[in-house]
Amino acid sequence: MRALRFCIVGGGPAGNSCASVAARLGAEVTLIEKDILGGAANLWDCIPSKAMIAAGGVMSFVSRATGMGLDPVTPTMDLAGLREYIESTQRQLNESLSQMLESQGVDIVEGSGTLVGPREVVAETVDGRREFTADVIVLSTGSRPRVPEWCVPDGRRVLTTRQAYPPPEVPQHLVIIGSGVTGVEFVHMFKSFGSDVTLVVSRQQVLPGKDPEVAALLEESFLTRKVNLYKGARAKAIDVQDDGVAVHCNDGRVALGSHALLAVGAIPNSEQLGLEAAGVESDGGYVPIDHNCKSSVPHIYVAGDLSGKALLSSVAAMQGRKIAEHAMGLHRNRPHRHIDYSQAASAVFTEPEIAEVGLTEAEATGRKIRVTKMPFSVTPKALINNDPRGFLKLVSDPATGVVLGGSIVGGQAAELISVVALAVTARLSVSDISETLFAHPTLSEALGDAAE
Ligand SMILES: Cc1cc2nc3c(=O)[nH]c(=O)nc-3n(C[C@H](O)[C@H](O)[C@H](O)COP(=O)(O)OP(=O)(O)OC[C@H]3O[C@@H](n4cnc5c(N)ncnc54)[C@H](O)[C@@H]3O)c2cc1C
Repeated sequence: MRALRFCIVGGGPAGNSCASVAARLGAEVTLIEKDILGGAANLWDCIPSKAMIAAGGVMSFVSRATGMGLDPVTPTMDLAGLREYIESTQRQLNESLSQMLESQGVDIVEGSGTLVGPREVVAETVDGRREFTADVIVLSTGSRPRVPEWCVPDGRRVLTTRQAYPPPEVPQHLVIIGSGVTGVEFVHMFKSFGSDVTLVVSRQQVLPGKDPEVAALLEESFLTRKVNLYKGARAKAIDVQDDGVAVHCNDGRVALGSHALLAVGAIPNSEQLGLEAAGVESDGGYVPIDHNCKSSVPHIYVAGDLSGKALLSSVAAMQGRKIAEHAMGLHRNRPHRHIDYSQAASAVFTEPEIAEVGLTEAEATGRKIRVTKMPFSVTPKALINNDPRGFLKLVSDPATGVVLGGSIVGGQAAELISVVALAVTARLSVSDISETLFAHPTLSEALGDAAE
């Protein structure tokens, strides 16, 4: 029997995980990517932003040394060095990904892919046009930053997130518009590098939608670090002068700075994709999917940001993997779990770090829950680290003890949440966590204490 032919358009986490799993399962796989394998996640989003935050984190880590009996150290910024560090991290990831996919026999096509029929894809490459006919098509073209109609990013004074890795100079005073995950991560990043920062927050809480207690702790940390918060202010225009910017808000306030950065969401990359030619339905540019990640055309699957589900790299990669398994028929002879998007762990890489999974206390309105909370101030390892900020909260079912979710604010929150994520996915109970013998001294011990 001939191998199933996959044609995947877009090589970010969604596309490359799908390609890798499908090839391992015996499919003939073509992966079309117009920019770089690893996708926007590698080139613009997760990797460069977390590399910048890691560099800034070293600065603040070193600044805690004084409280630990060490002489103060003040690292200075080397923007060219920082750029090289980011680029070399990206290069290493890109090379290892290319090598892995090539070794699995994936045909990697450098070019822009477009659907020209329900089973036909055309790739425009530097060497001309290539046509592919596929049994299974996967669309994973991702998204890009949304630019509001009232401003034009010039890459000099007004930046999108993609123009900030790193900017040619450390902004003296950065006005950040948007206080979702991306906005607050950029606040932390540039504050660590010594910029003054003003954050324009359209609601009354940074990180709208997150547990208010969690958001409050981040706000407190921002205020301690002298971040100006313009709460309840919606930006509506930016004046750009030679030496700075003025961000006008709808409540009459004007935030002045040397630079402005937009962090106001994303829009899907679907305009040039030929969705109509293949009869694929879309909604506001996103492509709705069913629980198997199928579009309105059964053999055309969609993964990653384009599906408009949780816009997370981890979710994109899981969708890619699930698509490969489903299209290759694995669900026919073994149990196939659909993705439960409400169980996706997520993190905000600020200081303190924030991570959540499953049901939060704020979301549980009307439902009986048990909430147990443990401050890191009583956790030996947090005191040893000279960083006792934050807390850990577990949400469980009072009748069964099953863990429904958790929120963590504090050092290593993004790592610690994995235990709670596993508990939520595997339907473990609080006693499963409290009976676990964690190593000592570790921050994980706080999980055991909160579960008691
Ligand atoms: C600043 C920022 C930081 C983020 N940090 C995190 C984080 O820490 N953790 C996390 O989980 N998520 C994070 N995200 C979200 C994450 O980046 C996205 O959810 C993830 O990249 C989505 O993966 P994807 O495969 O759908 O798309 P992408 O990574 O966007 O990849 C899509 C690929 O498709 C290619 N493409 C597009 N059109 C075509 C075409 N016609 N033909 C061929 N190729 C095409 C693009 O070139 C791109 O390489 C962040 C987002 C932003 C903006």
